[in-house]
Amino acid sequence: MRMRTLVRNIGEFFTGDLAAPTAPVRALLIEEGKIAALDPPEGIAAERVLDAAGGAVLPGLVDGHVHPVFGEWTPTQDAIGWIGNYLHGGTTTMVSAGELHTPGLDYANLTPDLVTALAEVARATTGRVRWSGVKLLAGTVLLVPGMTEPHFDRLARTGVKMAKFIFYPLTRDPDEAKRYVRWCRARGIRVKVHTGGVSRSGLSQMCGYDILAWLEPDIAAHVSGGPIPMSDQDLLRTIEETGFALEICSSGNDRSTFIAARRLAELGRLDRLTLGTDTPGGTGVIPRGMLRNILYLAAMCGIAPADAIAIATGNTAKAHGLDVGVLRVGAPADLVVAAPVEGSAGTTLTQSIAHGDLPGISHVLVDGEAVVDGRSRQTPPPAMPGRFETVMLSGCCGC
Ligand SMILES: [Zn+2]
Repeated sequence: MRMRTLVRNIGEFFTGDLAAPTAPVRALLIEEGKIAALDPPEGIAAERVLDAAGGAVLPGLVDGHVHPVFGEWTPTQDAIGWIGNYLHGGTTTMVSAGELHTPGLDYANLTPDLVTALAEVARATTGRVRWSGVKLLAGTVLLVPGMTEPHFDRLARTGVKMAKFIFYPLTRDPDEAKRYVRWCRARGIRVKVHTGGVSRSGLSQMCGYDILAWLEPDIAAHVSGGPIPMSDQDLLRTIEETGFALEICSSGNDRSTFIAARRLAELGRLDRLTLGTDTPGGTGVIPRGMLRNILYLAAMCGIAPADAIAIATGNTAKAHGLDVGVLRVGAPADLVVAAPVEGSAGTTLTQSIAHGDLPGISHVLVDGEAVVDGRSRQTPPPAMPGRFETVMLSGCCGC
């Protein structure tokens, strides 16, 4: 018999789909790691029952911009265990924006073979294992001048899915840069570009509207700064005159984030917005970073809480070509059970998020497996914590 998990007594259900971000779903059935049914028939048999206690169920958060190095160690803050800590902040999927914090890496002397090998090693090591249960897309190539098509063949063979312009001198040879974008797309590799001023590395290339307009990446990284944003004028032109995905990160400038989020909302183009933390790095290790992004958008930028959740989940997954971030039949059962914390504003997660109050997480499931069970070690406990019930299976499944 297949292992089934029933999540019941759901008070609020967030789909992760910006087009319809909430639904009146009260229960869901998980089978073989995937969502098998929404509101399955009453009394359906399941080996495990998770009582959401009237709290909220939302997709696991997707951090579209992390900088892994080796496993759960980050040399940027000499911290270990960061991926597990982010999981307890509700993040179930992460996308590397480049393994550029590898100790000793000389940004001034990167060669095509070195960046290709670095992405291959990251993909085959850190990117091979689910650290603490988190899905981590590691092995993002840092593009440099002089790469040839066989380099991209090698990357595709290793399973690399992301490429990044950060140290690449974008004004030197636009034809080469555009060729890289074509070679990537032909191999299912998505292209992200560092935007704004110089980053902590000291060698990232400046990038604003003038470059983005001809480069046309799949995703413009941290458009509100990572840490230094492009000018307001460039930011507004990028929003108004281009069509690719725009990423906002925790490492950015809050003022620019406000401008970008407001303008995208005014234009009805929140579908372009994706989120990440751009950590670990100089901003630190922020286990609750993705939750804080949601809170800032909802409480300070006037975006509906359900929309902010969809941006942090379905939008970000879709921009990176991932099948996670939405709770629909057939999707991976990556989800968070959360509720307002005692003392927080409102009685629902929507109300507490609108007020800017951190949610309390009781459970996180990845592919239907409980990787946080009963209590997040990074959030306060929810006032109504979910819990697994003891199940007495009656009858026979026909085995
Ligand atoms: Zn970054």
